[in-house]
Amino acid sequence: MQRDGATTSLWQNNVPDHADSGSMPREAVDVLVVGGGITGLATALLLQQQGKRCIVAEAHTLCFGTTGGTTAHLNTFFDSTYDRLESDFGEDASRLLHSAARSALDLVKRHIAEFGIDCSHAEKDGYVYAQTEEQEKQLYKMFEASVNAGAEVAYTESIPVPMPFRKAIVYRRQAQFHPTRYVLGLDKAFGAAGGLVLQGCRVETFEKEGELLRVKTSRGEISARWLVWATHIPPGINLLHFRNAPYRSYAVAATLSDHNYPDGLAYDLYDPYHYFRTQEVDGKRYLIAGGEDHKTAHVTNTEQCFAQLEAYLRNHYAVEEIAFHWSSQYFEPADGLPYIGHLPGNPDNVLVATGYSGNGMTYSHIAAQLLSDLIVKGESGYASLLAPGRVKPVAGFMDFVKENADVVAQFVGKRLKAGKLPELAGIAPGEGRVVKYEGTNVAIYRNEAGKLYALNPVCTHAKCVVDWNRAEQSWDCPCHGARYSITGDVLTGPARAGLEKIDLEDL
Ligand SMILES: Cc1cc2nc3c(=O)[nH]c(=O)nc-3n(C[C@H](O)[C@H](O)[C@H](O)COP(=O)(O)OP(=O)(O)OC[C@H]3O[C@@H](n4cnc5c(N)ncnc54)[C@H](O)[C@@H]3O)c2cc1C
Repeated sequence: MQRDGATTSLWQNNVPDHADSGSMPREAVDVLVVGGGITGLATALLLQQQGKRCIVAEAHTLCFGTTGGTTAHLNTFFDSTYDRLESDFGEDASRLLHSAARSALDLVKRHIAEFGIDCSHAEKDGYVYAQTEEQEKQLYKMFEASVNAGAEVAYTESIPVPMPFRKAIVYRRQAQFHPTRYVLGLDKAFGAAGGLVLQGCRVETFEKEGELLRVKTSRGEISARWLVWATHIPPGINLLHFRNAPYRSYAVAATLSDHNYPDGLAYDLYDPYHYFRTQEVDGKRYLIAGGEDHKTAHVTNTEQCFAQLEAYLRNHYAVEEIAFHWSSQYFEPADGLPYIGHLPGNPDNVLVATGYSGNGMTYSHIAAQLLSDLIVKGESGYASLLAPGRVKPVAGFMDFVKENADVVAQFVGKRLKAGKLPELAGIAPGEGRVVKYEGTNVAIYRNEAGKLYALNPVCTHAKCVVDWNRAEQSWDCPCHGARYSITGDVLTGPARAGLEKIDLEDL
């Protein structure tokens, strides 16, 4: 299975891509769902089951985005803790979000049972543990607010990971699964219900024509009554790009020589936090560990993040082999809650789901229920809490975004003389770097065979300058998280167009 990075996740291994690219529809459809990740497929399936004719359009292949690079913990608690939610939004909001999360996990379970999806789903307890005095205080607040929110949570004397701890709490009835096998199961059910998946179909722009939206895609035009951006972040320039910050997170799947695999999900309270769980895939067990998060394109030597994670793991576990290591991207919302509903600045029939933090397995199914209710019934009990248009002032949020104002000079022209770039000699095979050329910037990458690729490093989304991501061999934008391949093609939105290619002369 393909993904938007150079590393291979546990979920890509032994999982075939959805085979068919699909044929363009001749007639208008009810809903065009853009994005073939967990949000897109879960939403499209619920709509199709309720009698709406749906299409899922995916620019690459199903699970190409973060769904192929997740760690797939299914939680009823979130990165934005219930005490934060309670203090910022009130106890009613906190209770509502908890009940939404519970119903999302129940929906996943129902899908698996109803469609016989073989994805190793298992209910597990989720442990959060404090290792310092400060964290103990934090844990106490988290616990109190989780009880208020209605969570099944208790203090516990033991945790399933071999870390020293002062205090720990356990959330009951959390879960885990194999995410890409689950999504391919949804895809099969969606197809059986009459839904259509178009792969290699990038959705570009749309125009309103009466009740319909005429949508331009890389494969031709589609007319739809509703458009849902299930693209993790919507493309183009939108208010939501200033309310979401892109982050990278790192994961490894290791085998253990003493087979001391944890029975449960575990999380520490550092920032960024470490998380652990066990997953059996095709008869083999793996310890999955994750962490080392940072703002996108704020670290170039991303291999170091894997090295740190591995060193941390080896300190606590008898690691036999790091079988898989991968990284992926998530979007941190300004006020801690995702944005699910009407996309501000767009016609009423254009919806979005974004800003999931590291909780998109759960939020995808909250989104599926919320968005399908908005389309089918015209309302949802979660709509106002998660409305993308809500206004919540957030002090210091712009600090999330790397200062980029000094580097937005546009590169002019598509050819440059390699002889004028002395830095070229210093770029090792497999390495990329933004270098100066007569006062402007050029993104240069040298492949393993020594061939050089040059690109205009100005992100086509909002004109920030991209930076090299060594581990994933991609050009990543620090401002809003657009990512590009070594040839400049879009890997991850919100960019709509690739980086401009530049010819290097004299090589
Ligand atoms: C390392 C890591 C670990 C994580 N672990 C967890 C976890 O344990 N539990 C949890 O709940 N969450 C976790 N998350 C978050 C979770 O994985 C994501 O929130 C979730 O996968 C997002 O799913 P999605 O379908 O919304 O987006 P994606 O999976 O990113 O799918 C979006 C799709 O849209 C396509 N697309 C984009 N633009 C266009 C366009 N213009 N036209 C057509 N197609 C387009 C993309 O190619 C992509 O396939 C983790 C995130 C990371 C980074």
